[in-house]
Amino acid sequence: MSRNPRSKKGAVDGCPSAGDVFRLLQCAGSWMAGSAAGAAPEPSGCASVAEEVLACLSGSCKVCVREDVADAAVWIRSQEDELCSRVFGGKQGGISVARGQELAFCEGGREVLRGRADSVFLDEGSSVVLVCAYDFAVGAAVDVSGDAWQLAALAMLVARELGYVPQVYAAVLRPFAVEREVAPVFFCPADVVSARESILEVLGRAMMKDAVCDPSDAACRGCRARGMCRAFSRCVAEWGAADVEVRWRELSPARKLAAFRLARLAECVAARIDACCEAELRSGGSIPGLALSPGRQLWSVADASAAFALLSARFPRHVSAVSFARCCKVNVSDLDRLVHAARKEEDAGATAKGARSFVRDLLAPCSEVRVSKGALRECGGFLSPPGCPF
Ligand code: SF4
Repeated sequence: MSRNPRSKKGAVDGCPSAGDVFRLLQCAGSWMAGSAAGAAPEPSGCASVAEEVLACLSGSCKVCVREDVADAAVWIRSQEDELCSRVFGGKQGGISVARGQELAFCEGGREVLRGRADSVFLDEGSSVVLVCAYDFAVGAAVDVSGDAWQLAALAMLVARELGYVPQVYAAVLRPFAVEREVAPVFFCPADVVSARESILEVLGRAMMKDAVCDPSDAACRGCRARGMCRAFSRCVAEWGAADVEVRWRELSPARKLAAFRLARLAECVAARIDACCEAELRSGGSIPGLALSPGRQLWSVADASAAFALLSARFPRHVSAVSFARCCKVNVSDLDRLVHAARKEEDAGATAKGARSFVRDLLAPCSEVRVSKGALRECGGFLSPPGCPF
C-alpha cells in the first residue's frame, strides 16, 4: 500500500492513476469494479510518515524528530544525486528541478490518466528528463511488479506536460523497503510514444462497461474490489472445491500460470488473515475456537568466545579451538560486514560488494558452494524483469 499522501491510487472518482495501469493491463474490469467498491482506507500512520518525509525533503520541517523519517529523506536525496550524475554526466548547470508535480493526460476533453512525479530533473538543452516517484511502502507491502508500467505512464504524462517527447529516465525510490535497490528504466522517445499508445488502449478497455474481470495474484493483490468481486471469489471457491491434481491435468499452460498466480494470492490473503487474527487475540480480543499458543523458549549461545573459555577450562582435553569451531556456524552476512569494516579502515573507498568477493576468494580453500533446489518463479509475460516494457 502506498504511503504517499498525495497518491491518487484508490481514488473512486476521476480517472486511473499511473500506479493503476499495470493492474488494468491484467484485469481490465478492475477499474469499474474498484469504483463500485469505494475508496480503500489508508492504513493508519502511513500518510503521516509520508507527509513527514515530504516535509523533510521540502525543508519545511526545521527539526526532524523521527530518525527513520530523517534517514528516508537523506537516502532519497542521495539517490537523486546519484541518478542525476549518471543521467546528466555530472553536468551541474542548466538542469531545472520540479517537485511534487501532479500530472494529467486529457483526451476528448476529459482526464483519462493522472500521476504524481515526486521529482523531475530536466536538461532542456539535450531533451533528457529524470523522473522519480517515491513509494513509502514498508516490508511485505512493497510490490515492484508494476514499476515498469507506472514509470511508462509517468514518462507519457511528463511528455504531455512538456509538449514534446524527451528521453526519459525514470525510477521508483523506496526508502522504507528492506532492499532499497533503485532500478532506473530508460525510455527513448519511441518508447514514450509506444507507452502512450499501449496505455491509452489499456485505459480504453478498462472504461468499457463490459470490461472483463480476470483474477490473478498481481492484479487482485492491490485491488480494492477484492472483497466483493465475483470473479475473484468464484475462482477461489472453484479451486477450494476441486480435486487439484485431476483438474490440473485438464488445464492449458496459460490456465496453469493463472492457477499459480491465484495460489500466490491465496497465500497472501491467508497471511493477512493470520495477522488480523493474531492482532485481535494479542490485544485482548477473543475468537471462538482460536487461541494463541504460548511462546517457546529458544536457547542459544549469545557469546561464543565466552562459551569456549568456559567449556575449554572445564574439559581441556576435549574442547579445543578446532573441536569447538566444528560446533559453530559462521554467519556469512556478519562475516562480510566484519571484513568490510576492516577493509574500510585500510581504504576509505572499499565497498561492501568488494568485501563479499574478497571473503569468498580468501576463504575459497575452507568454504563450499552448494546449489539450492531452486524455486518456482515467473519468467515472462507481464511479470518480466523490470525494464522498459516496449
Ligand atoms: S479482485 Fe481481481 S479479478 Fe476482481 S476486479 Fe479486482 S483485480 Fe479484477
